[in-house]
Amino acid sequence: MSNRILIISPDPDDVQTLRQALGAASDGPFVVEDASTLADGLQRIEQSGIDAILLDLTLPDSLGLAGFEQVHAVAPHTPIMTLCALEQEADGREAVQRGAQGWLSKGYFDNNLVPQSLRNVIERMRVEQKLYAVQARAEITLNSIGDAVISVDMHGRVDYLNIAAEVMTGWERDEAKGRPISDVLVIVDGDDGGPVVNPVEAVLQAGQVESLAGEVVLVDRHGKRRRIEDSAAPIFDWDGQLVGAVMVFRDISDAVALSAKMKHLAQHDFLTNLPNRVLLNDRITQAIASARRSNTCPALLFLDLDKFKHINDSLGHAVGDDLLQAVAGRLLGCVRSSDTVSRHGGDEFVVLLADERRPQDAALAAEKILIAMSTPFLIDGHQLHTSTSIGISVFPLDGVDAEALIKNADTAMYYAKERGRNAYQFFRHDMNARAVERQLIESSLRLALERSEFVLHYQPKLDLENRTITGVEALLRWKHPEWGLVLPDRFIHIAEECGLVIPLGRWVLREACAQAVRWRESGLAPVSIAVNVSAMEFRHRDFFDHALAIFEATGVDPAWLQLELTESVLMRDVAASSGLLAKFKAMGVQIAVDDFGTGYSSLSYLNEFPIDVLKIDQSFVRAIDGNAGGNGAIVSAVIGMGRSLRQRVIAEGIENAAQLDFLKWHGCAEGQGYFFSKPVDADQMRAMLHAGG
Ligand code: C2E
Ligand code: MG
Ligand code: MG
Repeated sequence: MSNRILIISPDPDDVQTLRQALGAASDGPFVVEDASTLADGLQRIEQSGIDAILLDLTLPDSLGLAGFEQVHAVAPHTPIMTLCALEQEADGREAVQRGAQGWLSKGYFDNNLVPQSLRNVIERMRVEQKLYAVQARAEITLNSIGDAVISVDMHGRVDYLNIAAEVMTGWERDEAKGRPISDVLVIVDGDDGGPVVNPVEAVLQAGQVESLAGEVVLVDRHGKRRRIEDSAAPIFDWDGQLVGAVMVFRDISDAVALSAKMKHLAQHDFLTNLPNRVLLNDRITQAIASARRSNTCPALLFLDLDKFKHINDSLGHAVGDDLLQAVAGRLLGCVRSSDTVSRHGGDEFVVLLADERRPQDAALAAEKILIAMSTPFLIDGHQLHTSTSIGISVFPLDGVDAEALIKNADTAMYYAKERGRNAYQFFRHDMNARAVERQLIESSLRLALERSEFVLHYQPKLDLENRTITGVEALLRWKHPEWGLVLPDRFIHIAEECGLVIPLGRWVLREACAQAVRWRESGLAPVSIAVNVSAMEFRHRDFFDHALAIFEATGVDPAWLQLELTESVLMRDVAASSGLLAKFKAMGVQIAVDDFGTGYSSLSYLNEFPIDVLKIDQSFVRAIDGNAGGNGAIVSAVIGMGRSLRQRVIAEGIENAAQLDFLKWHGCAEGQGYFFSKPVDADQMRAMLHAGG
C-alpha cells in the first residue's frame, strides 16, 4: 500500500526536491500531493486520505507555529513533520513538543533521510493507533464487567480501579490513586470480623497468584459490608520484574445468602421450622461424639400425638397445621437450648437431650412434656385436647448410632401407646423381639379368618349361693396350625391395631349367637351368652346395624345376649356411648362393664349408662388372698359400689375357696373362675349346661 504525502510549502524548489527524494525511494512508492498555502493545505486535509504531512513553517497566509497548530487541530492523528530554515529550528523543536513527529532542515533534504523519516513516523502512528484500540477495548471491558478490578504498583499503591471496584469500595478512581491498597480495600474475616491478610500484599510478597482463604467480608468506605470472593495475580514488566499486582473480586453476598437459605430449607421442616430428620441425624451424631469424651448419656424422646389424625380429619388440615406449630412451640419451651426438637414427619417429633447425665433426667423431661401437652390448645376457636405418647432411648445402652437410637425410641413409643397413651416408656431390648413376634402374628392373623382357625370357648358364670350356672362368657381362641391354641391376650390388641378386629368381632358375635340357637335347639333351656366387644368395634359406625343383621340371620333372641365393654371404652365418648347402649337396651340386649375398677370411671358417669352387670376385675379378687385385711377392703368397697348402683356384681377370676367365701360374705352374688371351670369348648359347655340346667 502506497503512502499518501501532502507537502504544504510555498517554495516550488523545495517541493521539487522533496518529490524527487520521495520518488527515488527504493523501498515502496509514495504518492505526493502539494499545496502552496495553508488554506489550500487545510482544504486538502479535510478530503482525508493523507498519511503524513510535510509542513513549511513559513507560508504566505501563516507564519511559524500558528500554521502547525491549525493543521494539527484538523488532523490530530496524522503525523506531521515541519520544514524549517536553520533559524526556525527553535519553532521546529517547539512543534515537536506540541505533537509534531519531527522536522526536516531546509536545504538538507536528503534522498535517503526524507523517505526513511516519513516511513518511520507513519509506522509509529499506526502502532500507536493499534495500542490505543487495545487500551480502549480493555478499559471498556473492565468497566462493563460485574467483577471489580483493582491494580496496584509494586509498593502496594492503587493505580487503577474499574467501575465495579469503585462501587464496591466506595472510592473513586482519582481519589484512590496513589493510596495504599489497605486504605481502599478493607477486608475482614467473615466469621469473627478479625483481620485478614490483604491478598494483594500477599501477591507482592510471594510474586504468585493468591486467593483469599475462607470467607471474607469487604467493608466499603461507608461501612457497608459485602461477602466477597477474589483472587489476585502479580504483574511483571518486560524484564520479568514484579511491578505490581491486580486483584479481581466479586460480591457474593446474595449467593451466600441464597445458599444459606437453601441449606436451612434442606435441614428444616417447612411447617414448624424445626430441624428435620437430616439435621437431627447430624445433631445426634455430634452428641454421641461428645458423649464419648465427656461420659454423658444423650437421650432421644420419640413423641407421637395421640389424637392428631382425628383432629386433622374432623377439623381440617389448616387446624391440624396450626396445632403442629403450637405443639412445636410448647416442646421448645420444655427443653434447654442445647437440646434439639425436631419434626420427624406427620404428628411425630423427636427430642434430643444432648447432655444428660442420668437416664432419670430423660424421664423428668418426658414428664414435663406430657404435662405441657395435656393442657388444651386453643386453635381457631377450638379447644383441642391432645395427649402424647413418648418412647425413650438412651445412648449407649439402647443404641450407638442415630439410626438405632431413633428406631428403638420409636419402638418404645408404641409400647407407651399400648399402655394407654399419655405416657412415656423407656426402651427395653426385649421389645424388639416382641416387635418381630407381633409382625408375625399380624401376618398370620390376616390368613386365620379365611382359614377358619378361630373357635369360641365358654366359661360359666355361677350363682355363688347355689352354684347354678347363670350364663356363659364367650372367649375367643385361635387354633394356629403350628403354634397350637393361642389366647386372645397375644393377638387381640394387634388385631385391633391393624383393623382386623372388626371382621373378627363380627365372626365372634355371629358364632356366639349361632351357638346360643344351637344349644336351644338341642333342648337346653335358654342361656345368656356374654360377648366381649373391643373399643374399635364399639366405635365402628356400623356396629349396631351389623349386630342387628346377625340377630336376624341367626334367629337369636337378643335378650339372651350380653355385651361386655370395659370402662375406658364407655368413657371415651360418654354421649355417643350412652346413645348406642340405649339402642341395644331397647332390643333387650344386656350390658356388662368388664374389668370394673381398673378404669378411671366416675360413679356419676356410670350411673348414666343403662348398665346391668359390673364384672369386678380379677386383680381385686387375687388381692383377697392371705389374711385379707387391707386388700379385701378394696374388694368390699367395689362390691359396695356396684350394689349401690343396683347392678348385678360378678367377680372374675375366682381360683380358691377363700376368695369365694370372702366374696359371698361381702355380698357378691355371682362369680366366674377356674375354681368352678376353665373356659371349655362348646361341647363340654353343653354337657355342663345339661348337667347344671
Ligand atoms: P376378660 O373378658 O376379662 O375375660 C376373662 C379372662 O380371664 C379370660 O382370659 C379367662 O380365661 C380368664 N380367667 C377366667 N377365670 C380365671 C381364673 O380363675 N384365673 C385366671 N388367672 N384367669 C381366669 P382369656 O380368655 O385369655 O381372655 C383375655 C381377654 O381377652 C378377655 O378378658 C377379653 O378382654 C379379651 N377377649 C377374649 N375373647 C374376646 C373376644 O371374642 N373379643 C374381644 N374383643 N376380646 C376378647
Ligand atoms: Mg370379658
Ligand atoms: Mg375381665
